[in-house]
Amino acid sequence: MGDLFIAGTWTTGAADGRREIICPADGAHVGTVTEASDADTRAAIAAARAAFDTGSWPATPARDRGALLARVADLLERDAAEIARAESLDTGKRYVESEYDVADVVSVFRHYAAVAGSDLGRVVDTGRPGIAATVVKEPIGVCSLITPWNYPLLQASWKVAPCLAAGNAFVLKPSEITPHSTIHLVRLLEEAGLPAGVANLVLGTGAGCGGPLSADPRVDLVSFTGSLAVGRHLMAAAAPTVKRVALELGGKNPNIVFADADLAIAVDHALTAVFLHSGQVCSAGARLIVEESVAADFVDEIVRRASQIRLGGPFDESAQSGPLTSAGHLAKVEAYVAAGLAEGARLRCGGARPSGSAYEKGFYYLPTVLDQCHSGMSVVQDESFGPVLTVETFSGATPAQAEDAAVALANDTIYGLAGAVWTQTAGRGERVAARLRLGTVWVNDYHPYVPQAEWGGYKQSGIGRELGHLGLEEYQETKHVWHNLAPAPSGWFS
Ligand code: NAD
Repeated sequence: MGDLFIAGTWTTGAADGRREIICPADGAHVGTVTEASDADTRAAIAAARAAFDTGSWPATPARDRGALLARVADLLERDAAEIARAESLDTGKRYVESEYDVADVVSVFRHYAAVAGSDLGRVVDTGRPGIAATVVKEPIGVCSLITPWNYPLLQASWKVAPCLAAGNAFVLKPSEITPHSTIHLVRLLEEAGLPAGVANLVLGTGAGCGGPLSADPRVDLVSFTGSLAVGRHLMAAAAPTVKRVALELGGKNPNIVFADADLAIAVDHALTAVFLHSGQVCSAGARLIVEESVAADFVDEIVRRASQIRLGGPFDESAQSGPLTSAGHLAKVEAYVAAGLAEGARLRCGGARPSGSAYEKGFYYLPTVLDQCHSGMSVVQDESFGPVLTVETFSGATPAQAEDAAVALANDTIYGLAGAVWTQTAGRGERVAARLRLGTVWVNDYHPYVPQAEWGGYKQSGIGRELGHLGLEEYQETKHVWHNLAPAPSGWFS
């Protein structure tokens, strides 16, 4: 039995490919999984197409689809420890963080279980007698769901739950380096009673099996979470067949601290903002933008505390953060920091791999702070996706000018995913939030999200929204049905 799930059957696929999965914390063997080929992906798309065009799922009452999602949430809770362990082994992230992630996944399924039948359309008042007009919501069809390695199951849940709630069929492809929690989820969908062919799973690289997910004419929607470069490629590949494209891409997220903030709390959150999961978070607050008058002390305190963050493997209870995901990613972060230093940034802490035998086999990198940065530098513009904080400062002769300066810096990247503002001045948080070109703004907080609120990016951070109501609409088509109850000749050509 293989790890690809196609038309309701677990299979090793046409090419019988294999990939070894290793733990980034110590290079240990985690498992060997099936690797799909393009032919397997095309078979999975055919299965989804058949399940959508001729199967029962799209016509299943929304309330029953919601009930199935609730069953999946129950099963996820039953298996939470096993799934969290798999997630930690694949990603290297602390077990306790994986436990939080699985709890979040459960709440995403519960949310879409509850809202599955909440918007079935509306009656339109045409202003004409004898006409019954409705606008109805329908599933869009066959969806390609492509997810990254940083929050493998969570990112999958943001797609799978609304996709099923809306009545679609899908082909899911997780990142090739973190497949295990997604395999587990698909097993739970099967156990919950989802009809064969509705959920299909392929494993492997974009080059190895991903092509048909964006190019095949039988696919109606591509929903992708990952890097800007791959997002651009998928959008172009989907263009000839005019698929709907939903993109959750990178970020270079500003964390703005005004001098009037509660600075002790702001320092604490600035650390979590950037160093959580070793910075491998799309919404990481990687750009500290701090008011000049308090910058020196504020940055000193961040450096002091960042230097004390203890790195370690997923099951090391004293560890506060884990490794980067792969040797390749570690090399990318190193090159990124080197470029920043060459551009004139000042290294305040980190900037190297940690020493010691405990770290030798893993892909660890020390929490790093780069001071004296400006928006002309690549370290300020490019996403590192690692534990690297850049510091920029702003000032203004008046409070309004200080706000102008902070907003101008914060908006000065191609990205627009998320960010925060720290202030205790009444009205300032709202004023600044309104001017930030970001999909999520936190005022006096960083990182929380709930499935009830939309998530997504402005500018080149993406297209569309996940979570919230729009996260369901992403997977729906809208149809106007005009029913003339008393037809009569039009007489136009008489
Ligand atoms: P990536 O773009 O390298 O890969 C993402 C997924 O796309 C993987 O499953 C990969 O195999 C697949 N893929 C690559 N090329 C493909 C192709 N040609 N066709 C089909 N599939 C293909 O990204 P990554 O390194 O896995 O993840 C990190 C990136 O994800 C960061 O840029 C991060 O900001 C972003 N991200 C964004 C969000 C968000 O909500 N906006 C959330 C998490 C991660």
